[in-house]
Amino acid sequence: EQAAAQKIVSAALPERFRVGTSRRAPSDTYDYLIVGAGFAGSVLAERLAADGGKKVLVCDRRPHIGGNTYDHYDEAAILVHKYGPHIFHTNSEDVFAYLSRFTAWRPYEHRVLAQVGDLRLPIPINRTTLNALYNLDLASDAEAARFLADRAEPCDPLKTSRDVVISQVGAELYRTFFEGYTRKQWGLDPSELDRSVTARIPTRTNTDDRYFLDRFQAMPLGGYTRMFERMLNHDNITVLVGTDFADLRREGLADHTIFTGPIDEYFGHCFGRLPYRSLKFTHETHDVRRLLPVAVINYPSEDVPYTRVTEYKHLTGQVHPRTSISYEYASAEGEPYYPIPRPENQALYKQYETLARTRVDVTFVGRLGTYKYYNMDQVVGQALATYRRLRDRHGTRRAL
Ligand code: FAD
Ligand code: UDP
Repeated sequence: EQAAAQKIVSAALPERFRVGTSRRAPSDTYDYLIVGAGFAGSVLAERLAADGGKKVLVCDRRPHIGGNTYDHYDEAAILVHKYGPHIFHTNSEDVFAYLSRFTAWRPYEHRVLAQVGDLRLPIPINRTTLNALYNLDLASDAEAARFLADRAEPCDPLKTSRDVVISQVGAELYRTFFEGYTRKQWGLDPSELDRSVTARIPTRTNTDDRYFLDRFQAMPLGGYTRMFERMLNHDNITVLVGTDFADLRREGLADHTIFTGPIDEYFGHCFGRLPYRSLKFTHETHDVRRLLPVAVINYPSEDVPYTRVTEYKHLTGQVHPRTSISYEYASAEGEPYYPIPRPENQALYKQYETLARTRVDVTFVGRLGTYKYYNMDQVVGQALATYRRLRDRHGTRRAL
């Protein structure tokens, strides 16, 4: 099995990576062992190595770097995101400037349509959505606001993902756009989920149909994996993919571990399992240049088993005579993708977080490591802040 994993290693990484095996000489030790080569692990590896002068070993159990943002050229030579559409957006100038050291960007503003019966309507709900759905002619923000206010059902307090939507747009629009999608995505009714989940999606009275309004919205020009290659390409960094932490943890390779996998897994699920939502993808290539009008179509109806369909060429700008799409299905089983925001899960996480605070030999970062429904830019911000804390605690070889 080890041999098989190592084969994947050499196939998946460019030659300039110094890929070792987990059977290392006792003298081959590191300042840090970083578990996970996604944004959290890779940003920390880069900072510790390049800024801190530390020697770092990064392992990931997947056969590639990049974590959930990993992209690659499929059999038709079309750049696709293996784990679903990843659109970079942030309001943080610092985060954008930091990542810009490793990639140029392609400006891209994301737009999504929701399939409702035969109609494809802008989501987030905006004035165009209302006019098309109800055959209206709302001509101003004020008219749209009045239309929504007539339907909104005030909820006090606003606690759940159902409350958030109902209080803005009322029960009918809630059922049309949110109820089914959320049940499919999370396996829970919106009334069982923290309000923060559907609060990610605003309601608009104007005709702005962009999914995000952040100051910086762009895709890494050569793709995410390319950007990660540049981040991790440093003499102080060794990358071992296809390697689970479980195979390394007893080898004493480093005094300090940075863990970006599920925190409950690190502690042997001692307080019980934290629930994570998983996803399954089916990828297809079609013999047409373009299949969809926008990158993503959401399917709020429970009659359709998937939640969304993505056509990647919209995101990447690639010119190609064929096109690749993916269907996204949520599932309870499989690799963890999403922490599930609800009070009882947060309480369980707090037990792990309290235990983690007592441990000086390990630091938890990232979406799985801190059980937070974070976007990429938030994970980068969290990793940069973690680096500053470690630097202050452990010092660096270089004067900073
Ligand atoms: P991950 O990327 O999950 O990396 C953790 C890594 O740790 C994984 O590669 C895993 O294999 C490895 N690992 C775990 N346990 C072990 C172990 N025991 N041993 C070895 N390795 C281990 N964010 C946005 O900003 N915009 C978007 O459009 C967007 N779209 C998304 C769409 C989907 C379908 C999903 C799932 C997420 C999306 N996100 C998006 C969020 C984004 O993916 C995350 O914020 C970010 O990738 C998290 O980085 P991370 O390093 O914390 O975690
Ligand atoms: N959501 C929905 N209908 C939609 C889009 C989103 O009900 O058409 C809800 C759903 O609960 C989803 C959440 O809003 O999980 C957040 O959506 P987002 O697109 O941010 O999810 P992600 O890209 O993180 O999967």
